[in-house]
Amino acid sequence: MTCCIFCAILAGNAPATFIHRGELVSAFMDIMPVNPGHLLVVPNQHAASLAELDPGTGAEMFRLAQKLAGALRRSGLPCAGVNLYLADGTAAGQEVFHLHLHVIPRNPGDGAGMRRGSYGHTRASDLAIEATAAALLRAIEP
Ligand code: 5GP
Ligand code: ZN
Repeated sequence: MTCCIFCAILAGNAPATFIHRGELVSAFMDIMPVNPGHLLVVPNQHAASLAELDPGTGAEMFRLAQKLAGALRRSGLPCAGVNLYLADGTAAGQEVFHLHLHVIPRNPGDGAGMRRGSYGHTRASDLAIEATAAALLRAIEP
């Protein structure tokens, strides 16, 4: 994988400020932070999408993100809350195709955050919810 910026960072071929280097996952500072302290937790091995991510590595990503969220709250940086955010695919807002979990400190009135589409503002019918759940249940692999 030659043209992945996060692989280059992990290999030491591009600069970044690391917060954690582990066997499976690492974390470094986002270069365009939503708020000061914005971190990216990444798998050490390239995975472009959730489909490509080893589930055990995904679990380690969440474990590290949880730990770093606690560190952010204790750090003295403004951090009244934390968002964990992961974009899987262009339609979801993914711009760097080496999967990463954002750890974003949040504060009242900071103006950040996900905007919900209009669908999310209306109560779905029970029929629609049941039909959607049925499609999902058919798709879940054992
Ligand atoms: P996405 O939109 O894919 O979920 O988020 C990509 C994130 O990667 C953005 O928050 C962006 O600021 C960050 N980013 C992009 N290029 C670099 C880089 O070269 N170094 C670092 N540290 N972060 C980057
Ligand atoms: Zn990569």
